[in-house]
Amino acid sequence: MKLLPCHADSYQRRLDTEVLACEPGPSGFRITLADTVLYPGGGGQPADGGTIGGARVLDVIEADAPTYVVDAPVPVGPVAVEVDWARRFDHMQQHTAQHLITAIALRDLGLATTAFHLNPERSDVVLATPVVPPDVLADLSARVNAAIRAALPVRARLITEAELAEVRFRRLPGEHDGTLRVVEIEGVDRNTCGGTHVANLAELQLISFIAQENRQGVTRLHWLAGGRALAALDAATAREAELVGLLRCAPAEHPAAVARLLQQSKDQGRDLKAQATELAVFLGEQLAAAGPVGALHRPGGDLAFLNAIARAAQARRPDVLLLLTARAEGPAGAFLIAGPADAVARVAPAIATALGGQGGGRPGVFQGKATRLDQAAAAEALLTA
Ligand SMILES: [Zn+2]
Repeated sequence: MKLLPCHADSYQRRLDTEVLACEPGPSGFRITLADTVLYPGGGGQPADGGTIGGARVLDVIEADAPTYVVDAPVPVGPVAVEVDWARRFDHMQQHTAQHLITAIALRDLGLATTAFHLNPERSDVVLATPVVPPDVLADLSARVNAAIRAALPVRARLITEAELAEVRFRRLPGEHDGTLRVVEIEGVDRNTCGGTHVANLAELQLISFIAQENRQGVTRLHWLAGGRALAALDAATAREAELVGLLRCAPAEHPAAVARLLQQSKDQGRDLKAQATELAVFLGEQLAAAGPVGALHRPGGDLAFLNAIARAAQARRPDVLLLLTARAEGPAGAFLIAGPADAVARVAPAIATALGGQGGGRPGVFQGKATRLDQAAAAEALLTA
């Protein structure tokens, strides 16, 4: 593997080097550098972000002969390369946390890691087990966080292949020349790795396991470390404070309060539906009693409600011809024409046009959406035209 300054010192945030070439490309300017401080990506860890002579790095193309795509041209010659430190340190925390989780899970719980993903929001390891039961997860959590409290040093050093037998092997990014880089958590783990790591487990602050997915005989265990765990705690605390205000009860009572509200809403929905049915029958019977032709314009409701009114009217008086509308927003809403099939066919096109409506139906029913329910009185006159 080619050793970069970020391998020797993950805390180096800036490097003075040289731009060897800068050419315009399809997605920005392609820059070749003499050297770099930006981690090129690999081993599950994404590439660093940063700037080269103030131009923002958009992509890393080649690690061994450092080549980048940046958003602005940079002159050939001396240049400062700066690491996006917030992103780098976050990756150092997540990556070191993965070493720790993988090592403890294997050594103390017999669970082997088969994959690692450092995602933008949360990271995961895939463990070779169908499920991690709650007591095992609690044990793993207690053990990794105890190691963090013990503030164990983390060191990276180079070894020869002859010394390799003693370390947990992982594939390295790119070719290597017989020299390997080993990352050691004192007393816990030695692992070949080309990534960037914190110098002491204390810098992880904490690891929080947040979810597991069990699929195809393996477990994908999601976790947050360091700044991500603290940010998640802050966000959860803010949401909790908001819920205290909304629900007007202590956080411990929130689940019960929400369950109660959901049940209440369900019950009320059922009551409302029963009342709407009663109202539809009442209105339908009134229309039927008033005459062979009738109209009703409601401030709310939907086509189901209008149909229920029409059915109730027709049950009382089969020859009734009705125009029913329900306003939703402004002059827009739903309309329904119901009655004897020939009468509906005769009046529907003109009424739909008057209401700025579109729709369809079946013999005896024409329904749809209208945009000009403010024209309801004019449309109503068309029933008897
Ligand atoms: Zn690593």
